[in-house]
Amino acid sequence: MATLVVQPESITEKFGPHLSKSTGMRLDPGVVPDKVVETHCCFCGQQCGIQLLVKHNQVIGYEPWYEFPFNKGKLCPKGVKRYLQGAHPDRLLHAYKRDPANPHGFSPVPYEKAIRKVAEEIDRIQKKYGPSAFASLSGASLTTEKTYLMGKFARVCLKTPYTDYNGRLCMVSAGAGNKKAFGVDRAANPWSDILKAEVVWISGANVAECAPITTDYVWQARENGAKVIVVDPRITPIGRTCDLLLPIKPGRDIALFNGILHLMIKNGWIDHAFIEGHTIGFDEVASAVEEWTPARTAKITGIAEKGILQAAEWWGRAKTSFLMHARGIEHSSHGVQNVLGAINMVLASGRIGREGCGYATITGQGNGQGGREHGQKCDQLPGMRDISNPEHRAYVASVWGVDPAELPDAGVDAYEIIRKIDRNEIRGLLSISFNPIVSLPDNNFVRRALEKLEFYVAVDFFLNDTARFADIILPGSLQEEDEGIVGTAEGRVIKINKAIDCPGEAREDWRIIQDIAHALKRPHGFNFHSPREIFDELRIASKGGIADYSGITYEKIERQFGVFWPCPSDEHQGTPRLFEPGSWNPIAKGKGPFYFPDGRARFNVAKYSAPAEDADADYPLMLTTGRVISHFLSGTQTRRIGPLVDQCPDPFIEVHPMLARKLGLKEGERATAESRRGAITLQVRVVRTIRPDTIFIPYHWAGNKSANQLTISAQDPISHIPEYKICAVRLRKAETPPVEARPH
Ligand code: SF4
Repeated sequence: MATLVVQPESITEKFGPHLSKSTGMRLDPGVVPDKVVETHCCFCGQQCGIQLLVKHNQVIGYEPWYEFPFNKGKLCPKGVKRYLQGAHPDRLLHAYKRDPANPHGFSPVPYEKAIRKVAEEIDRIQKKYGPSAFASLSGASLTTEKTYLMGKFARVCLKTPYTDYNGRLCMVSAGAGNKKAFGVDRAANPWSDILKAEVVWISGANVAECAPITTDYVWQARENGAKVIVVDPRITPIGRTCDLLLPIKPGRDIALFNGILHLMIKNGWIDHAFIEGHTIGFDEVASAVEEWTPARTAKITGIAEKGILQAAEWWGRAKTSFLMHARGIEHSSHGVQNVLGAINMVLASGRIGREGCGYATITGQGNGQGGREHGQKCDQLPGMRDISNPEHRAYVASVWGVDPAELPDAGVDAYEIIRKIDRNEIRGLLSISFNPIVSLPDNNFVRRALEKLEFYVAVDFFLNDTARFADIILPGSLQEEDEGIVGTAEGRVIKINKAIDCPGEAREDWRIIQDIAHALKRPHGFNFHSPREIFDELRIASKGGIADYSGITYEKIERQFGVFWPCPSDEHQGTPRLFEPGSWNPIAKGKGPFYFPDGRARFNVAKYSAPAEDADADYPLMLTTGRVISHFLSGTQTRRIGPLVDQCPDPFIEVHPMLARKLGLKEGERATAESRRGAITLQVRVVRTIRPDTIFIPYHWAGNKSANQLTISAQDPISHIPEYKICAVRLRKAETPPVEARPH
């Protein structure tokens, strides 16, 4: 890989993003579909049920799937337009090789030849520099079967420790915090518990835009009388309909959680019996929060003391409650501490493991939950097993038919893989459904690092922004072109059903991975004929682990509209609500409901620290980044769907009227936001729904429209999630219009 082989416009001309529209068969109301397929939306972690209408091997539309209990037919704007990603002019129908002689930078190459080239390059690099010189990066949009296969492929076929996934940018702080406190990384409750809560606490979650169907649960809870508390630096749509908004300064969430716990203890709003009977570590946490008086909490968080007192009283006095959070507190260099602070509030209240008493992170990616359970993480083996644990290694090695000593040790996180590429420690990369040039922070560094690769192969269904730099592109599969399972935000394992065949020479991703293994002459363990066969092995590999899928079958999923893990036997119906009194788990073995040998949950002191880069004299504003409802993550799909692009064609900078006045900015004018790493010029939206000391930019775009030119690569020391939600910037009226025009 080197710099772009031709000008970006020439690549765009051929590979897009172009916009799909409703045309032809899709517009004809008289068309009778060949079949109607019950499946799920391909985008966010809600995984709403949907029925796809199929004619002539093309998805021509959708119908609601009213029976699916999570969304009961409801869909958001992305869900109702998701069918337009199929039969798209940009769909990759062939393998391609980098070709400077081609005006578009790439020439089609027969699939088998492309696979041979990939195998030759892997072999060459590994012979020259060692097995660890080749890395893989995969995605949390893949089915769980594929994520399982990617973890196995890295360890058994490539024999490299360097594999990780883009869930590293999404849910890992919540996962690490949940494991430290509960011993297990999964939403504790089904969403139906939200409806029975007296108080719903939402921290750092733009629910209405990023998890739209969850909004319906929150609103139903409110109809039932619940008080809704929202903590966010922006008045997001859910914030506009809440009972109490706490407009926190970005990066100060631990202070608020500690301040609330301080008031709970002071006012006796804690459940002593639960704390004594089911937890350890409370006293240490109680003394740590003594200093978090309302005055100090208000000073650090920027929230008025009155709001803090009101929130503590509602939360403290409630009989039932549901606390949820998302990337707003997790995308932080102290994301795990934020999560632990939230969990301390839940544990002190004793409101968990019962009907209407819940806690969850709202996963972002489509398979955000399942994608972090079965081994594509750098330190993990299937069933949420630990790659550093000799017993876990021995069990999984026995399933895979290899010597445990042959399994590599733990690797490093996705960003550290990029740093290793920059240091020439990794020379080759395979990526699948991962677009790091858009999605990683400080992405000018990422691009420069990736340019050092000797060989880069990208597997995807569209030419994503990073794949433009690839040596070989392999045409993978869209969600509707394959079957398999995914884990939803609730922890519900559901089944994606195949609607159409892959077009052209495109293949299901698991076939591509196996083809590479065979071309490398390392076929052992890569002879599956279907996702079902992969799933059957995954069930065995997960057996006895925390995420035990051994009792889940495709048929049980269909029969029950999903199965919540753990599900350790054929007779078991699954576990919708974790931590119920008397519940069994493979770690506590009956000693208590939490996943530790003594069955008790852990309080953990949540230590406050300032953001890695705070506003200062040179860069006096805080930038926070996030999503808009019409786009999804790095935009590989949604920037190609016409009606979604019509809804939000370009990124923008949200600015409070006070700040706009100070800088002489008006609605619609262009401004340049600049951090220590890069600058971006975008149109200004003057809104009263943001703190005056903070600006917001959505991150779904590439090139010079990418918000991640500005963000900082500081990471949480435990979860290694990057700090997307705060960095220091300055803002000024733009002198010149941006260089690049739509689309990109
Ligand atoms: S809420 Fe998520 S899963 Fe549901 S339709 Fe929207 S994008 Fe799809």
